[in-house]
Amino acid sequence: MPGTESLIGQTISHCLIVVKLSGAGEVCTRALDWSHRVPRLRGVLLVQAVALVFVALAPKAQAQGLATPPAAAASSSSSPADRVYRNGVIFTADARNRTAEALAIRDGRIVYVGSNQGVAPFVGASTASVDLEGRFLMPGLVDGHMHPLEAGVQLLKCSLNYESLTIAEMQQRIQTCLDHSASEDSNAWLEVVSWFQESMRPAGVKTNRATLDALKTTRPILVISSFGHTALANTRALALARLTASTPDPIGGKIWRDDHGEPTGLLEDSAYAVISDLLPKPTDAEYVAAAKAALKAMSRQGITSFLDAAAALESMSAFTAVRRAGGLTARAHFAPVIEPKEAGDLPGAVARVVAFAKQYDDGAIARLPGITVRNAKLFLDGVIAAPAITGAVREPYLINAGTAEKPHWVPGPSRGPAVYFAADALATVLVELGRAGIDPHMHADGDGAVHAALDGTEALRKALPTADIRPAIAHDEIVEPADFPRYKLLGTIPVLSFQWEKPAGDTLGLTNYFGPARMKILEPAGLLAAAGARIAFGSDWPVDKLDEWFALKVGVTRTNAPSAPPEYSGRLGDDPGLSREAVLRAATIDAAYELHEDDVTGSIEVGKFADLIVLDRNPFKVPAEEIAKIQVLETVVGGNIVYETSMVSGVR
Ligand SMILES: [Zn+2]
Repeated sequence: MPGTESLIGQTISHCLIVVKLSGAGEVCTRALDWSHRVPRLRGVLLVQAVALVFVALAPKAQAQGLATPPAAAASSSSSPADRVYRNGVIFTADARNRTAEALAIRDGRIVYVGSNQGVAPFVGASTASVDLEGRFLMPGLVDGHMHPLEAGVQLLKCSLNYESLTIAEMQQRIQTCLDHSASEDSNAWLEVVSWFQESMRPAGVKTNRATLDALKTTRPILVISSFGHTALANTRALALARLTASTPDPIGGKIWRDDHGEPTGLLEDSAYAVISDLLPKPTDAEYVAAAKAALKAMSRQGITSFLDAAAALESMSAFTAVRRAGGLTARAHFAPVIEPKEAGDLPGAVARVVAFAKQYDDGAIARLPGITVRNAKLFLDGVIAAPAITGAVREPYLINAGTAEKPHWVPGPSRGPAVYFAADALATVLVELGRAGIDPHMHADGDGAVHAALDGTEALRKALPTADIRPAIAHDEIVEPADFPRYKLLGTIPVLSFQWEKPAGDTLGLTNYFGPARMKILEPAGLLAAAGARIAFGSDWPVDKLDEWFALKVGVTRTNAPSAPPEYSGRLGDDPGLSREAVLRAATIDAAYELHEDDVTGSIEVGKFADLIVLDRNPFKVPAEEIAKIQVLETVVGGNIVYETSMVSGVR
């Protein structure tokens, strides 16, 4: 394995993923093995107020005084609600984080939020009345950054589900997939995804093609690691790809070899791209099936709105097909990518996004979930997720000037790659997007890229001081403290994947390259919040398994799971983390703000669409660690139940 220090500032080896930006070379970005399957990515998602009688359920709320007098009482008895919820703990995520006991829904909108007594007049003969029996209800989750089509494609594949497996368990899982697809042709590829290679048991155990050759099949098999930079092929797959002892390592890739020079089956980066290029691309029908699978997974987690943060044409088209068939169960927002190679014609690039909007955007948010194209994605750098260190940083990465035995880490020559868009080009494209009413969503991992994104936003604000544009900077894994206040000043939203804020290989692996001062402020969610930033949550699924509740838990604790290896115990850095209230707001009202739908979703307030979830436990009351175990019992979008378990239906 090449030393990771040699990768600083480089772009390909050891990368989580290589995104090919034609004309601009290749960049490494935190993403997964799906890039090769999606051409675009390879080329690299009032109503009047009625009685608002809130009941005191939290001491803080009590102190605020909850009894808000009815503003304009609706004639509730003459038009009963379609559905009411009673006897709950309702976290509203309104401006005062008030809690309530009951709510009423009519025609997909919330018409009452308040007490059990207050909701009574809304109950008519045809009203479905749900007794929550003290259960917790809150706004549906809004996921401000994910890659749903790619995630859905993975869901349909044979998956090792990011689990820590022994070789025997791995073989058994893959054999099961083979047995379940026994009707497949003997030449049909089996692609296996979400292999947590780094976590195989026992620690350090090695896999090779023999691991796969032992299976009862003649089919070619490719197993792709969840980090997206390694794959394992069986002998049949190597033969079909003509990878032999005499095949040189391709640029940006490595073929692992045995003592005789024969490929072992382990392939890195561009070396496995040689094989993955042989795999059939999903058909349109498979993309539609992938979109449906992704939506189903989202509903189970309680997601009612999402952003496809690098939307390929295939994604907009597949989700549109699902919407037309009446199957869209979450509000879908799409951010097509503007690539650095388009710097020569930025108005043309923006026009291309506007054309997508004309074709796919369904207009104003309505009761039934629709599609919007009101965001554009710009990658500004790579990643700083060890062992891939390709983020643009303000101060140089450290290098080892000593020996392996006696390391001595000193500032090296590299600050990572130049920010992918030059300052003037970034300013131009942001202003053009602003004029077109498109919110920029910028990928910036390193503090150099973050600084550039903030500078670009400053130019945008100067040019269009009154425009309601909501620029977002995704990831923000390291931010120069001087830039903390600029998020608030410039109205720029950090979109954070809270699950990264824990001791783990990808964070602690940076220690040598960053040094102690930067490690203290890695993943600075709490520091950004303290500086007044409005933080939105984005899962980045499928870079990680979709587990919103684990992510929200980490946002509070900044600790790994209790089952993690001992070297990953304790908190990450000095950042104070976020309060429970703050993580829930980030994944509801503040992400709704990011997606420009906070006027109609994101909180439980009269007049808004009834996008809500019921949970099996109260995230404010359980030990913080238990937030990770929360189960969603029911998911409602625009008043329609899109997911439910017997636990809620049973209490009706
Ligand atoms: Zn992403």
